[in-house]
Amino acid sequence: MNDKQHKVVIVGGGAGGLILATRLAKHAKRSTKQSTNLSVTLVDESLTHIWKPLLHEIAAGSLNSYEDEMSYLSHAARHHYDFQLGKFSRIDRQQKLLYLDEVYDSNGNVLIEARTLKYDSLVFAIGSTNNDFGTPGVKEHCFMLDNRKNAEYFHTHFIGKFLAARAKQDNESLVHINIVGGGATGVELAGEIYSTMKRIVTFGLKDFNLDRIKICVIEAGNTILVGQTEKVQKGALKELKKIGIDVKLNSKVSEVNSTTIVIDESNILPSSLSVWAAGISGSMNESAFDGLALNRVKQIVVNAGLQSHEDESIFAIGDCAECVVDGNRLAPRAQVAQQQAIFLADNFMGFIDSNNMPEFVFREKGSLITIGESDAVGNIFASIFGSFYVQGAIAKWAYLSLYRQHQLQTLGVYRTIIQVLKDSMTRVLGPKIKLH
Ligand SMILES: Cc1cc2nc3c(=O)[nH]c(=O)nc-3n(C[C@H](O)[C@H](O)[C@H](O)COP(=O)(O)OP(=O)(O)OC[C@H]3O[C@@H](n4cnc5c(N)ncnc54)[C@H](O)[C@@H]3O)c2cc1C
Repeated sequence: MNDKQHKVVIVGGGAGGLILATRLAKHAKRSTKQSTNLSVTLVDESLTHIWKPLLHEIAAGSLNSYEDEMSYLSHAARHHYDFQLGKFSRIDRQQKLLYLDEVYDSNGNVLIEARTLKYDSLVFAIGSTNNDFGTPGVKEHCFMLDNRKNAEYFHTHFIGKFLAARAKQDNESLVHINIVGGGATGVELAGEIYSTMKRIVTFGLKDFNLDRIKICVIEAGNTILVGQTEKVQKGALKELKKIGIDVKLNSKVSEVNSTTIVIDESNILPSSLSVWAAGISGSMNESAFDGLALNRVKQIVVNAGLQSHEDESIFAIGDCAECVVDGNRLAPRAQVAQQQAIFLADNFMGFIDSNNMPEFVFREKGSLITIGESDAVGNIFASIFGSFYVQGAIAKWAYLSLYRQHQLQTLGVYRTIIQVLKDSMTRVLGPKIKLH
């Protein structure tokens, strides 16, 4: 008979939080022998989950976000945890309370009153937002890809610019799409936009000359894909150039205006659509965390057991956490969030019993960058062979497998297989591109 109650609240149901809620609730259900009765609550500001690495596909229109979203409410019911809709605004560590803002309907009326949730253990998995580094004009004039709404917003404008250019009689005016940041997000978005344009032309707008759309990736450093091996960087650069995407290295954006981007204070580029993908930052200010230490990009600083330094009942995983393993700060990647979620879920029951967390060990599985519909470059790590470079179809397949792993963790084997079949059928039967 379980006599103690322990309430775990997870804030953020993304790449890390959703896996954690699913797996922890599964462990809690199975461990009836344990003396503690664990209840799991997941909080998210959205009603549905979309895996963030798909956002560049939603932005370009190669993925219809409604096809791939998952309802938290139905997932929670199926996997034995509670779901609460709401945006976290702050915590009170003394009272162990999580404060949630009011939830509004689409007309701006209050749907759910502001409220608090009591916790015994709290896990932050709230991801990150774009970091504009204080660059003038970015907030006002740049599109961001940090959530689904923003990706859809970009998509609408992208299609609009495309159609407007086509409607112009001169057949010459150009559309300049500038993507600031040569990291994975920027490179993948550039490739996806190119693929989408090609498909739009093939499927309907045959009279449009693709050369009228100029895509440029602007990077402040001397290479794209910092942190990747030189071979991956060169491979990606070659692929981008092959499909006509301009890459400007050593080019620091100093200002963004409605129709221009200024590089290094003086070089002015025309810009019909400017996208900012130049780094991440935590989404909440220090005051929200009631004294937890944040680093300079507002990530919660955690120890080797993923606990905040100031409060061992508060954990952080994924993009919102600064986690250092073997002297290296882990990069904000889905594979980090996923491994941290699995680690936490698998060690949580032990933590409640002994008050001890083991050390998180990160296992690099490789890193892949997709460039458009059918190409990808990257490194795969295999325990027997070590790291090796892959390109083309194998790399594309390996890239997709990261998403399938996410689905396996959150849906289980049976539903993942159904999902794979459904995706294959949609690819054959459904529209190739979202044009609205
Ligand atoms: C376009 C793009 C492509 C990418 N490609 C790759 C890739 O190929 N490989 C890779 O490893 N990584 C990739 N990434 C990075 C990867 O998406 C992130 O590292 C990963 O999603 C982080 O997981 P997370 O759980 O920390 O946060 P997220 O997945 O961002 O989830 C955060 C969740 O918290 C919720 N939330 C946020 N704030 C609040 C709040 N105040 N209250 C309540 N809920 C809140 C959000 O709604 C969301 O559901 C890519 C990112 C982008 C944008």
